[in-house]
Formats: sequence, C-alpha cells, structure tokens
Amino acid sequence: MRVLVVSDIHANLTAFDAVLADAGAVDEVWCLGDVIGYGPDPNEIVERLRSLPKLTCMLGNHDVAVLGQMDFAVFNTEARKSLLWQKKALTPENIAFLESLPQETLVRGDVTLAHGSPRDPVWEYILNTLVARLNFESFQTSYCFVGHSHIQCLFQLDRDKDRVSLNVPRVNEVSQLTPRVILNPGSVGQPRDRDPRAAYAIYDTDGQVWAPRRVEYNIPEVQQRIREANLPEKHAIRLGEGW
Ligand code: ZN
Repeated sequence: MRVLVVSDIHANLTAFDAVLADAGAVDEVWCLGDVIGYGPDPNEIVERLRSLPKLTCMLGNHDVAVLGQMDFAVFNTEARKSLLWQKKALTPENIAFLESLPQETLVRGDVTLAHGSPRDPVWEYILNTLVARLNFESFQTSYCFVGHSHIQCLFQLDRDKDRVSLNVPRVNEVSQLTPRVILNPGSVGQPRDRDPRAAYAIYDTDGQVWAPRRVEYNIPEVQQRIREANLPEKHAIRLGEGW
C-alpha cells in the first residue's frame, strides 16, 4: 500500500494541493494534525481533506485550540490572532469534522500515529535524540509517525546499543526502514528548516520504504491571501524563508 503522509498543513491550500498533485495516486492519506492555524484557508483545507477517500487524520494543538478545548494564552500573539480569525471563519460542518478527530495515538498496521509524540500526542515536540529515546517506550509498533516540529527527520533506535541517532534526510533520499524508527514527514504549510518548499513523505507499507519529499508551490499567492485577510505579516514572511 502506498500512503501519503502529511502534517502541519496549517490552512495553506496552495501548498497542500501541490503536495497532492506531486504525490500522485495513493491508497491512503495519513494526516498528523495541525490542519488549521497560521494560514488563510481554514475552510478550504478542511473541505479538501474531507473530500479525500481513505483519510486518517489526527488532531494537532492548533486544531484543539480552535475547538475551544485549550486556552489561547498558550500561543504567541500572532498565532493567537490567526486562531481567533479562523475560529470565526470556520463553518459549523468544518468545526464538526475537526471535533471528530482523535487526540490520542492511533495504530495503522505497524505504525503508531501521533501529532506531537506517542507519550504526549498533542503537545510534546520530538526535537532531539534524548526525547526520542524516552518516547520509544511509549509505543509498541515498529514505527511511529509524528509531526509538530515542522522538521523532516527520522530517529533510529539501535536496540543492541540502546542508542538513538538523528537523520535529516537529503531531498529525495529514500530510506529502507528497519525497526524501530520515529519519523517526521515535515510540514506541508509552514516548513521550518529554511527550505520553504512543502514537505511530505510517501510510505510504502509492503516494502517498509520511507520517501521524504519536497515540492515547490506558489508562495506569493498564499502570502497575498494572508495579507488580504489581515493576518499577521510575520506568517507571510516566514513562508518565503522557511522558518
Ligand atoms: Zn504545527
């Protein structure tokens, strides 16, 4: 089975449509959360996701916040401003879709899915090998797919040495996976590794092959919609620079 793995789309429809076109035919789509927040297209992004057959979608911290299940004060001023705007803009049907998404981890075959980490699915960032090592104790499957950090990377556990190594793949570097690994496809709608192209991954469940990818999209078009909606200028600038 060929699975499209995406995360942190953040209401950026142009980036997500570029990813869907670049990925080609897939059997399933696994979305690791943060569908909304930051970007100008909250309704459009939820509707695009709802139109996909065989979608599994997790709830991220921005999604939880827009549903009113979390205090907005935990977000910085600009992120909060976008969330308030999006909360107002979202239709009842699209709110209902977000409300139907799980906050806990899900298991699909040999893979555990979480937004942040298996230990703390909504909030924890896996940014270093120490936090990754601790999280290997919180899931049972061979692999765990996470988002949240917006950094395309993988953490491999060497069971004999009980050590975790971090690998930031080169563009189009395909990995033949061996248990156990925590993998992050990167962010579709707001990459933070200084490469502004949309990030995602293709996972081949039969061969256990992970292919991280990047695709260009029309960033000025999204920046223009951010400005037209009077959303924070910072969110427009960072898209162009990848941070
Ligand atoms: Zn995010």
